[in-house]
Amino acid sequence: MDISYILNELGENREDYFNAVSPPIMQTSNFAFKKVSELREAMSDEYNADIYSRGQNPTLNILRKKLAALDGAEDALMFSSGVSAISIPILALLKAGDHIIAIDNHYSWTNKLFHTLLPKFGITTTFVSGTVTSEFEEAIQANTRLIFLESPSTFTYQLQDLRKVAALAKRLAIITMIDNSYCTPIYQRPAEMGIDLVAQSATKYIGGHSDVVAGVVTGRKEVIKTIFENEFMNLGAALSPHSAWLLLRGLRTLPLRLGRSFESTQIITEWLSRHEAVKSVLWPFSSDFKQANLAREQMQGCGGLFSFSLKNSSAEKIEAFCNSLQHFLIAVSWGGHESLVCPAIASIPANEYNADNEQHQYIRVYIGLEDPAYLMRDLEQALLKADQ
Ligand SMILES: *Cc1c(COP(=O)(O)O)cnc(C)c1O
Repeated sequence: MDISYILNELGENREDYFNAVSPPIMQTSNFAFKKVSELREAMSDEYNADIYSRGQNPTLNILRKKLAALDGAEDALMFSSGVSAISIPILALLKAGDHIIAIDNHYSWTNKLFHTLLPKFGITTTFVSGTVTSEFEEAIQANTRLIFLESPSTFTYQLQDLRKVAALAKRLAIITMIDNSYCTPIYQRPAEMGIDLVAQSATKYIGGHSDVVAGVVTGRKEVIKTIFENEFMNLGAALSPHSAWLLLRGLRTLPLRLGRSFESTQIITEWLSRHEAVKSVLWPFSSDFKQANLAREQMQGCGGLFSFSLKNSSAEKIEAFCNSLQHFLIAVSWGGHESLVCPAIASIPANEYNADNEQHQYIRVYIGLEDPAYLMRDLEQALLKADQ
């Protein structure tokens, strides 16, 4: 399906709402029926009926059609956060005694899910770096039900070979799921490489304006229906119609925003890697990136999130650099219009900082939609100030 068609037309039955170009926000909790028999029929198949907005809502359903189509999937479910789009499908598809293989550098709350929440329900996880496919093969147990991926991962940018991992899992009937927030379906299409379930934090690039928290998972209809009829309805992390409308609005410009973020990041990472105050730059589309070949094989482009370290990586210098920035904001998250920095030291207690540990030195940068020259001037003056 053509991306232009998906973003501008798919799911938009305008004659149902006065031919309005912008779809309405169906701000309602429930839907009325003319007869008991009609209600009974709807309740027998809640997956396909508008009854109550914890389940189905017409504004969300436009969005679901578009996000499923973008992933090349049969259906999508929306959640009130990216985290719930990861945890709820896993809780729905696994049970006590099951085993997961995950990478050891997931997004922090995904890590916590595997380390803390799932063990409470008797679900165990083996962690691998994921950069070599044989690590997955070696970690497989008789009860392995799920391989959970995040490629690239969002702080260390490690990649997993999606085609190879999917082929391995298929042979053994193991479910594969990926957090694809970094690339979005514009730059990486995991379903086409054989991955079963694709989750994204829609808070990031899908929304794109730093004004909504949301998540999405896509996959085969039968699997999405199982998730919907069980943990999705039971845990109730429903997205509001207003948030869904903001995501629809964000989606219209997704390829433009992502393209701008990608191009600017290319310019800025190249410039930074030549800068005398900079030690290293970590970004999957840099020519000296360790897995550069794999990145170009399975990704059509790259997100605007990268990390770099200073030659002089004392905690004071890192903080002085970040504090000196005048246009980059110091903040978590990413994927919006605004450029951000988030140094690793922000999550390390001051007395535990180790200036020799590369992971501690990294300053994570997100490049938004500003002019790259404007951003480079800001980085330049902050690098100079940090060096004084
Ligand atoms: C932000 C983020 C999440 C969590 O999404 P929320 O919308 O904040 O719940 C998950 N994965 C990645 C890679 C993220 O960056």
